[in-house]
Amino acid sequence: RAAKRQGREWLAYEPVQSVSTAVAVSLLSELRSAVTRSELRLFLQPKLSLDSGQVCTAEALLRWQHPERGLLPPAHFIPFAEQTGFVRRLTQWVFDEACRCWLTLSAQGLRMVSINLSTRDLVDVHLIGRLQASLDRHRVPAGAFCLEITESAIMDDPQRARATLVRLGEMGFRLSIDDFGTGYSSLAYLKHLPVHQLKVDKSFVLKMADDESDAKIVRAIVDLAHNLGLEVVAEGVEGPEALAQLARMGCEKAQGFHIARPMAWEAFGGWIAAWTAEQAVARASALDRA
Ligand code: C2E
Ligand code: MG
Ligand code: MG
Ligand code: MG
Repeated sequence: RAAKRQGREWLAYEPVQSVSTAVAVSLLSELRSAVTRSELRLFLQPKLSLDSGQVCTAEALLRWQHPERGLLPPAHFIPFAEQTGFVRRLTQWVFDEACRCWLTLSAQGLRMVSINLSTRDLVDVHLIGRLQASLDRHRVPAGAFCLEITESAIMDDPQRARATLVRLGEMGFRLSIDDFGTGYSSLAYLKHLPVHQLKVDKSFVLKMADDESDAKIVRAIVDLAHNLGLEVVAEGVEGPEALAQLARMGCEKAQGFHIARPMAWEAFGGWIAAWTAEQAVARASALDRA
């Protein structure tokens, strides 16, 4: 493929086996040096609490500031990193950066940061030790973090995933099942997992304002979560209609472009301050009208 030699766009979409070993090796070394040359960036996207209108939590989303190709989203390198196992190194970087970010932003109201774990992390025997070492090094409590694991990553090896989740829960992490509704997990299995939160997959949320069946699926997931005693977050909230629908359904939190796009974490403190000020103005003018 010509694309191989050009922008290396294949890396997101084709399995490692289909590219020559030489290309894979050079890509891996490029990804390695991304870490050592500080080309990785941690972005944050706020999660809005629908009852209070406050933003106290955010999801950490990885970006690669590539010297030639610009700012790359995870789809361009996470799948490759997962296939090669290098994603474990990325997880370590993300977690350390999230510790620094929480230490800076907790004074501005950020109570918790969510981190995405991959299938590879769940079966990594060193995961627990490395996370604990980071917590100790930065002197940050585990309760400052929520770990998001996709439903399909759990279903890859449910028994092993469950054992890891139990350990992580005992350490004090909050646990969330990401992209819920797309991974074919049996509902019976769900009740055996020590999780606190379900994240409704954005494929349902994106269209819920226009598509009645998507709205019904979202409502069913919200009810299921509540019946199991879990909190619900909806991702992919792109408009005010979906936000209002979710609030009516009793969904606890919303995340999406309608609230804010992911931003460099250094910009997050300013964003929270502006958001809080805006909320205060809206409340004051609502009182005036009353
Ligand atoms: P995810 O964990 O489900 O993250 C949510 C994705 O939805 C993010 O894409 C976010 O930018 C996007 N999103 C949020 N609100 C909206 C919206 O209103 N509309 C639309 N169309 N999209 C929205 P992003 O940042 O490109 O990340 C994609 C996926 O890459 C993540 O999905 C996650 O699975 C993975 N990922 C991101 N960062 C990391 C990481 O540090 N480690 C690992 N293992 N995976 C990561
Ligand atoms: Mg996530
Ligand atoms: Mg998700
Ligand atoms: Mg997703």
